[in-house]
Parts: sequence; structure tokens; C-alpha cells
Amino acid sequence: MTTIKEYVTIKKEELAKRILKLGRKPVIKIIQVNDDYASNTYIKGKIKDVEEIGALAILEKLPITTSEDELLAIIEKTNLDKEVDGFIVQLPLPKHISEEKVKQAVDPKKDLDGFNVLSKFKSATPNGILTFLDDNNYKFEGKNALVIGRSNIVGKPMAKYLLEKNMTVTVAHSKTPNDELRFFVKNADLIIVAVGKANFVDKTYEFKNNAYIFDVGINRNENNKLVGDCEKDLPVAFQSPVPGGVGLLTRLALLINLVEASEKYGL
Ligand code: NAD
Repeated sequence: MTTIKEYVTIKKEELAKRILKLGRKPVIKIIQVNDDYASNTYIKGKIKDVEEIGALAILEKLPITTSEDELLAIIEKTNLDKEVDGFIVQLPLPKHISEEKVKQAVDPKKDLDGFNVLSKFKSATPNGILTFLDDNNYKFEGKNALVIGRSNIVGKPMAKYLLEKNMTVTVAHSKTPNDELRFFVKNADLIIVAVGKANFVDKTYEFKNNAYIFDVGINRNENNKLVGDCEKDLPVAFQSPVPGGVGLLTRLALLINLVEASEKYGL
């Protein structure tokens, strides 16, 4: 199996070639209605990725005082804008704006985050993991998957996509007793950990030695270092690193969705 870093480099080169074939630069718009540090950093990364494959990113940064109606009107305008292949509305939104209304207002053909229930695209983090496994010829069918965490952006869509791959899927969450969780971990072939707690899965758990683990968590440890939800070097066949793991696959998934949007639905 290739490392995630190598894989992402190869996939980006493939996407750049598909854009050359398309003969024009796909355009992604990023709508931002906050000024928080994390969002600014993520957006900077997304713009860099988009430019690297030869596409164009337009950032529309709106004041925090933007009303829900004003944002919905901008989304409607972007839905109809023929110059834009796809777009994302960076989360979080200010409290006075309904996230759900915003998600469902995005045209499913342009919804590169895959948040709309009718979206033509899969949600970035789960899709990044799936695409990586698919491209590495992972055999999903009949195996046991365990998804730890049930968020709308990772856990739930991940479980749905793995079911569609004919896996037997268990979803553990904050109300799952720890002894049960240990039982599920011990029997899982594929484990997706999206909890948001450093060292949540550690070496006190038992694993199948041929298990694959994808560590979605992004946490700061006591030394302010970036760490995942899993202790390093668990005794399994594959464990995605943090940093340099699922984060890279998530960034890649957005690029894949952009190129697909421009090939399928663009002008
Ligand atoms: P979240 O933060 O919304 O929720 C955490 C989930 O963990 C909940 O569903 C909860 O039920 C579950 N949980 C909490 N305690 C648990 C316990 N004791 N046992 C089992 N489950 C428990 O979830 P999220 O938005 O998916 O984020 C999870 C982590 O993934 C965060 O660290 C986040 O920063 C990170 N994240 C990373 C990426 C990426 O690209 N790498 C993308 C999204 C989220």
C-alpha cells in the first residue's frame, strides 16, 4: 500500500491532467462568513490545493453581520452563476444563521462538500478515506467496519458509505459502554475513529492484526502538538498518521469533487 502522502501527490497529478484535457480552469467559490483562525487556515490550504492542480479558487468573505437571508441570496446567485463549477460554504457559521438551511440551499450539482441531502457528491472526509481504499483495491465486502463517532460530517456518512460497500457496520458513540467498544474494536477489520480526543484508542485495546485504522481526529496535546485520536504505532496492518493522513485525504476529496463537477455539469 502506498503512503497517504505519496498517494495524494499521484492523485493530484492525475487531476491536473484531467483539467488540461478539459481545456479550461474549473472554478470553485469559497463562501466564508466568519473570521476564525482555524477556518482561515483551512481556506488558505484549500486555495493552495486548488491552484496546484491548475484550477481557480474565488474567496467571497462576508462580514459576520451578514443575515441568513443575505447569505441565502448569495448562495442562490452562486447556484445560477455559470462561471462557478462548484462551491462550499465554510463552517462554522455565525449563530444567527441556520447551518441546515444553508446546506440545503446549495445546488446539489455544485455542492462540493456533499452536505445537501440530494448532493451529487460524497462528503469530503469519508469520501477521501473510501477513495484511498478503493484505489488500493481494498476488499470491503463481508468485512466488519467500526465507526467511532456519529457526527453528521464524518461518522454518519462514513457508516452509510461502508454499508453501501456491503460491510457489516457498527457505529459507536458517546453512549456506547467502553467494554462494548473494546469488543467491537477487537472484532473490526476496518476502524474509523472520529471522536476528537487524543489517545482515545490506545494500546490497551485488542485489535485484529490485519485491521486497518483511519484516525480522523485532530487534537492538540499538552505540548501543543497536533495529534490524532489514536496512540501511535498500534499493532495493526495499517494506521493513518496524524498529521499527514485523513486531513490530506479530505483535502484531496474536495479537489476530486471539483474536477468531477466541471467535467459532468460544467459548461
Ligand atoms: P464531533 O466532534 O461532532 O463529535 C464527536 C463524536 O465522538 C460524537 O459523535 C460522539 O458521540 C463521539 N464520542 C464522544 N465520546 C465518545 C466515547 N467515549 N466513545 C465513543 N464515541 C464517543 O465529531 P467530528 O466533527 O466527526 O470530529 C471528530 C474529530 O475529527 C475532531 O477531532 C475533528 O477535529 C476531526 N475532524 C477531522 C477532519 C479531517 O479532515 N481530518 C475532518 C472532520 C473532523
